[in-house]
Amino acid sequence: MKQSVCSYCGVGCKFEIKDGKLKALKSYPTNLGMSCAKGMSLSQSIDINRLDGVESRDSIQDEFKPSSYDEAISHIASCIKQTTPKKVGFYLSGQMLNEDYYVANKLAKGFVGTPNCDTNSRTCMASAVVGYKKSFGVDYVPVRMQDIDKANLLILIGANPAESHVVLFNRIKKAQKQGLKVVVIDPRETLTSLKADLHLAIKPNSDIELLNLLAKRLIEDGCVDSEFISKHSDGYKEYKKQILNLDSDKLLEATTLSQDEFEEFVSLWKSSPNIITAWTMGVNQSSQGVDKNLAINNLHIITGQIAKEGSGPFSLTGQPNAMGGREVGGLSTTLAVHLDYTPESIQKVSKFWQTSKLPSGVGLTAFEMIQEAYNGNIDVLIVSHTDPLYHLPNQNFIKKALSRIGLIVELNSYDNSQTSHYAHIRIGVKAFGEKEGTQTNLDRTLTRVEAFRDSNLPQEWEVFSDIAKALGYKEYFGYQSSQDVFEEYQLMCKLSYKQHLDIYKADYQKLKDEPFVWGEGLFDDVKFLTPNQKAKLHFVNNKHLSEKSDSSYPFVLLTGRIRDQWHSGSKTRHIPSLLKHKELEFVELNPKDAKELCVSEGDEVYIVSKRDKIKATVKLTNIKEKTIFVPISHLQINSLTPSIIDEVSKEPDYNHSAVYIAKSEELEA
Ligand code: SF4
Repeated sequence: MKQSVCSYCGVGCKFEIKDGKLKALKSYPTNLGMSCAKGMSLSQSIDINRLDGVESRDSIQDEFKPSSYDEAISHIASCIKQTTPKKVGFYLSGQMLNEDYYVANKLAKGFVGTPNCDTNSRTCMASAVVGYKKSFGVDYVPVRMQDIDKANLLILIGANPAESHVVLFNRIKKAQKQGLKVVVIDPRETLTSLKADLHLAIKPNSDIELLNLLAKRLIEDGCVDSEFISKHSDGYKEYKKQILNLDSDKLLEATTLSQDEFEEFVSLWKSSPNIITAWTMGVNQSSQGVDKNLAINNLHIITGQIAKEGSGPFSLTGQPNAMGGREVGGLSTTLAVHLDYTPESIQKVSKFWQTSKLPSGVGLTAFEMIQEAYNGNIDVLIVSHTDPLYHLPNQNFIKKALSRIGLIVELNSYDNSQTSHYAHIRIGVKAFGEKEGTQTNLDRTLTRVEAFRDSNLPQEWEVFSDIAKALGYKEYFGYQSSQDVFEEYQLMCKLSYKQHLDIYKADYQKLKDEPFVWGEGLFDDVKFLTPNQKAKLHFVNNKHLSEKSDSSYPFVLLTGRIRDQWHSGSKTRHIPSLLKHKELEFVELNPKDAKELCVSEGDEVYIVSKRDKIKATVKLTNIKEKTIFVPISHLQINSLTPSIIDEVSKEPDYNHSAVYIAKSEELEA
């Protein structure tokens, strides 16, 4: 029987397929027989709105006309040849399989010679990648889902797994029955916070103050792990000095929490032998996403809550294969297989790919690529399986930037992306159910993806190989199957630092039935991958870099997922049963704010930022006052969000836009 893995969130639920219907696999460790409504709907959505051929046009003012695949490939190759490598961009996606990522990365960096190969995962977990590398020397998630069963305390900060990682949340609820305590740190009351033992509804963007306040208190009360600190950490003396210099009253005041709430948090931490902190976009998508990650890692280092069962800092990747993209090298800030752009790595990769065209340094990140397009510095952009116009911030700016690119090529299975309005060539590719390969979930588990129906369309790696062949590199891209690609990728993993990316030990055929978890036990002997093998402490403080609210724009806008929709909803918004849980375009508002604004549940309002305005329906919830939430199922949400990005990770700040709310009739008058 064919088996496949869900192409929505990072949990990576595995299904078996019988007569085209999906059934969650009981024996599989990622989901243990569980699944959510989104995942179960996958087989119904395969045929909805398919992009099932190739079409092209000379200008975005023209209509698309059917085109031949060969002509399209030859035109793309010719446009790449006519420009310089730095003016070519590859915009990839956490929904691509490892094999698709591998060939795209090899083509872009190895043979086109452009470092501008990034992924939409930049907007999702780039801050966590940088945080892990700075603290532990490697992009390695040191916690598995099963660790939750061994933990005594789970802190969920900026995460709402009840809606974003449903099956993981079911696992958390089961662990709660066995005694796990859960603290949720979130300005919103969410389906997750309602099940928590303690909900800390902090002021938006005061995470660093709360985490530093906790660190200060633990140091003052002697509740740190002195042996771990002296043997396995670096920088404690300076970190301690800076933390102890902070004013506790001011930190608490910044969070808006009461002393009692904070004391309960401290008491839970002190009484818990094993602690996991898990987070998603509420932490990562920030002007200081890296600093927030470091503040979390610091706490785990000073208390020795890492490198042992049931503990550690646990970044939850949002997309199904965001982790795989990181491993392969889909981020423009890495070269390949976790290697940075060092002279030694460039030499190793050049030899492995037999090329002399590798760029010498990091490339443009997702948002930077579009900014450079605005400046006229991108001539060719290949967008694979994602929709930058929908998901990048400051949508009106993105529109202008995309319209300045000479050739935009879109590879997609579905034909309703917003970016398609700016594309010149669109190539339909295989969808879930038709693809073959592997993907890596949020806890490093590699799973085989099997096709259970036929399609004449190419898979992304085939398109990238064909472009390479048209550029004259046939001998380097002669793959006949996803297995061929995977096996070359496995060999390349041997180049990784200390061969920690041990994917070369997996067996493609066996992956059908057994998962492979890479890097198991990497920190078991408490040796990290920093040069001195110690975890590095980095003091951080809140620099208030996000857009500031004021009397004209008094509300802070937060964004995020809702349970039954997947991002723009190319598939999920067309399944009637998935529309029952929540509306697609609502705004959560506190009843006190609603009263001041004279609006009620169900009213239509405008949300206005300095960049644009959108309409949404009021939903009264216990969200923090002067804070609102609009789900990303609202397709215009990013016309409101600002161009601010984290200076280090380059991840956009989707969770702190200053806005005001106006009644519809006021703005329409
Ligand atoms: S969306 Fe996530 S939790 Fe739901 S079935 Fe898919 S992988 Fe599992």
